[in-house]
Amino acid sequence: MNPRTSMLWKSSFTTLYVYVSWVLLCLSLFSSFVTFTNALENTFSSSIASTTATASESLLVLQDINILIVTDVHSWVAGHPHNDTLNVDYGDVLSLYQRLKVKSINEKKDLFFVMNGDFIDGTGLSSYPPKHLIPILEFMPWDALTIGNHELYRNSTIEYITQPNGFVDFWEGKYLTSNVFLKETNQPIGSRYRILKGGSGREILTFGFLYDFQNNCEITQVENVEKVVNDSWFLEALGNDSFDAILVLAHMDAFNPLLDIILAKIRDICGDKMPVQFITGHTHQRKFHQMDPFSISFEAGHYLDTVGFTSLSFNASSANFEHTFIDGNVEDMKELLGMAKSDSFETELGKNLTDLIVATQEELGLNEKLGCSPKTYDVSKGLDEPDSLWGFYTETVVPTEFFKGSDSKLLIQNPGGFRYNLFEGNVTVNDLISLAPYNDTIYLVGEGINGSEFTAAFGEARLVNGDSVLPQMIVAGKVVADVLYDVYTVDFDVDFTKERLENATGTTLTPIALDGQTTETLWGAYIKDHWQCPILLLDPEQEEEPSWQDKFRDFFESFTVVKMIAFIMTFFVVMFFGWMFLCRHPQQKVSNTDDFESQSFDDGSGEVSYDYSDDESTSVFPISAIGANTASNGSKSYHAIGFV
Ligand SMILES: [Zn+2]
Ligand SMILES: [Zn+2]
Repeated sequence: MNPRTSMLWKSSFTTLYVYVSWVLLCLSLFSSFVTFTNALENTFSSSIASTTATASESLLVLQDINILIVTDVHSWVAGHPHNDTLNVDYGDVLSLYQRLKVKSINEKKDLFFVMNGDFIDGTGLSSYPPKHLIPILEFMPWDALTIGNHELYRNSTIEYITQPNGFVDFWEGKYLTSNVFLKETNQPIGSRYRILKGGSGREILTFGFLYDFQNNCEITQVENVEKVVNDSWFLEALGNDSFDAILVLAHMDAFNPLLDIILAKIRDICGDKMPVQFITGHTHQRKFHQMDPFSISFEAGHYLDTVGFTSLSFNASSANFEHTFIDGNVEDMKELLGMAKSDSFETELGKNLTDLIVATQEELGLNEKLGCSPKTYDVSKGLDEPDSLWGFYTETVVPTEFFKGSDSKLLIQNPGGFRYNLFEGNVTVNDLISLAPYNDTIYLVGEGINGSEFTAAFGEARLVNGDSVLPQMIVAGKVVADVLYDVYTVDFDVDFTKERLENATGTTLTPIALDGQTTETLWGAYIKDHWQCPILLLDPEQEEEPSWQDKFRDFFESFTVVKMIAFIMTFFVVMFFGWMFLCRHPQQKVSNTDDFESQSFDDGSGEVSYDYSDDESTSVFPISAIGANTASNGSKSYHAIGFV
């Protein structure tokens, strides 16, 4: 190699070395900064956390009587996997109750836990009969519970829960059905009332009423509230004045006039100053209503989006009611209890219940993926909205999977049949059941029905009345006068549809069930045919390979002090040997020989003299790495440069 080439090679190499060194130095400084700020943040946040843990008070203030409430959970006991803000399951609610119970005992206050009906029909954990759900519900230490209309739709549900040693017996008198009876025995399914006794000695007379429901299954009977409040048992229960307050679990709207009827009778017998707490439900909303100075009505949402909390203190002349709608969110619950973010929320029993829920879901295959939805479809949106679940169902799913190209079919059903949104991304078995929990069978009600007769029977299709965003009955298929149609409906609407069509056509119709065809199978077929996503073919355990940017970010985010020290030491070691290798060699190389590799590294003097040429290309550290003081010396000790 000639000297000129050698010089160029060395110049390029040393310049590259300088740049690499600077990059290493910058990375080292950056990592030091990251480590320092992380350490600072951790120190700061842990000091906040410990401050919160010791100084923060529970935001839930207990009064003399306190009630924790779940209503209309409809089997959403596992929480909402598609909604991060609703991250509690029944295990967490049980944990909340147990923590509040300890607080109530410490403060010598009474805490009661109640469930206000409609525990079935919502997710894959619900079934007919609800044999998978019941063991989960029996984990909950409810002091009183009542029946909802949903438990009364099917004989199989009632037969299952009323069997000897079944669900009703399990509660040993806590299951209150003041106006719901078994026809066969003419006795209430549960108990008519119960006295709740708290540790403080206060006693609360408790009832469980259902609104005047009429679509109940044949083996049951719902007596009208107006009648029951005049029954002798009710009057006698109120006439026994050994209790301090009255609690009415009422599966009905917080503003239902039936509450006024119950309250009026209580006032007649117990006076104006008997505290009366109505726990209401059924409308699936959060509502509060002060009925008179000594009575309130409180309704706590649905689907475990809310855990209700009410409290009451009273004396002979006044009553103070407070209430809180607790979001179905663990962090919110911890905050309410005055717990630090870092504190563990789950109690042992709560964790056991969560484990049971997860195991039951696994056993039922509810997490099995069916396909991938390209977007979220909202069950509450009007038919013409781009993300309307019902719009998509009537415009796409039914025509594709049921009509299969025919223009002479109509499917009519009520908008209560679908209960939950379909979310973008993975669609599981549980998601499908949550959407269509009733799995309604489809019926052919009549053939050759004229479009004008259909309109006469049901009114204009897609017409929306009042405050609703959806029509009273939803129709799939285009209705045209003088065109003849086969009309279909679902089992819930068979009687209504048959009656209307018979009136409009003047004929007698005989509905025929379509074996194996349900609303759920229509959705399932569509998802299978049109929403398969390649990622589902992968092993579910197989994660997507992270990008290099993610790896880079993860590397620095996970930087520890040890890594930082190792990194800096590596930097200096590299610099040291690099300096030894490059800084000593070039000086001798330039003056003695063009064979860089053949030179002895150590000249035996112990010190290295260095010739700082004006030619920048020959200088190892031509810029600030050497420093101004070195630039003026014609000969400089290696050690004087200051790298070691
Ligand atoms: Zn409900
Ligand atoms: Zn209901």
